[in-house]
Amino acid sequence: MEGLFSLLLFAVFFYVMMRFGCGAHMVHGGGHGGHEQHTAGGSTDPVCGMPVSADSGYTKVHQGTLYHFCSRNCLDKFDANPQQYVGKAQS
Ligand SMILES: [Zn+2]
Repeated sequence: MEGLFSLLLFAVFFYVMMRFGCGAHMVHGGGHGGHEQHTAGGSTDPVCGMPVSADSGYTKVHQGTLYHFCSRNCLDKFDANPQQYVGKAQS
């Protein structure tokens, strides 16, 4: 009698786990790796137009936006006149 009761309890516990625990997690974990490609793709050097990968080159934050540069030379050019390159990239 006692064994059957604990088995029933275990079944309810298992049901709840599947419903709100691991089971619910599996439903949401459908699409993976979407945001990884976004950062790995890198961005474009606003000065010379060359594609720069996210883990190389030079970066600078200007007005809350992170810009990537292929070389120190491009970074210096951007620093000297950021408006020229920022305006070109946004419009
Ligand atoms: Zn460049």
